[in-house]
Amino acid sequence: MQGKAIIVSAPSGAGKTTIVKHLLSTVPRLAFSVSACSRTRRKEETDGRDYYFISAEQFKEKIARDDFVEWQEVYPGSFYGTLKSEMDRIWSEGKTPIFDVDVVGGLNLKQYFGANGLAVFIQPPSIEELENRLRNRATESEETLRKRVDKAAYELNFASRFDKIVINDDLKIKCFEIATMVNGFLDM
Ligand code: ADP
Ligand code: 5GP
Repeated sequence: MQGKAIIVSAPSGAGKTTIVKHLLSTVPRLAFSVSACSRTRRKEETDGRDYYFISAEQFKEKIARDDFVEWQEVYPGSFYGTLKSEMDRIWSEGKTPIFDVDVVGGLNLKQYFGANGLAVFIQPPSIEELENRLRNRATESEETLRKRVDKAAYELNFASRFDKIVINDDLKIKCFEIATMVNGFLDM
């Protein structure tokens, strides 16, 4: 039987990973949904915790068997997707999966889960502030930063398709607001 799901999406740098980590530590009913992917594992990553690392051939076999809730070829030759078996694993533990995905992935998941999914769009206070946050995070080169900021401007157009929009200005207040929203949805 299909259970509920929480989808948190945002342009890169808006704060979705920070907010999802907070939710996982304050709402014990949630479990992080681990995606399958076909890229090679980075040395700091653990199979089964960060991703289920499988080959492109295995990934394609799973597509053919209709094993995925959704999948995308995010980079040429690198496939990423959510396995139905991962949902069943989390639901069978009595928990609700939470997703930290980009905007298009989030909308695909919302379409799949329908009324059983709560899709939250995390909006930066402004594009300038998003750029500041990406700079302060210090994970991007000038080139990838520019790409992410440009993509963010495009992704903001999709905000109205989500169930809820939260402007991530004061982090502490917004984490509390989203946790209350998630608990309310799970109690329905
Ligand atoms: P995303 O997962 O959406 O790319 P992150 O969670 O990595 O974003 O957040 C981007 C950066 O902004 C991080 O350095 C994070 O600490 C910081 N950040 C997140 N939320 C806020 C906020 N409300 N105010 C200021 N900085 C924030
Ligand atoms: P990474 O940096 O881990 O190689 O790639 C992360 C990218 O893959 C991000 O853009 C992220 O949104 C995307 N991604 C991760 N898991 C999934 C998934 O299950 N489905 C989709 N569609 N994209 C995913």
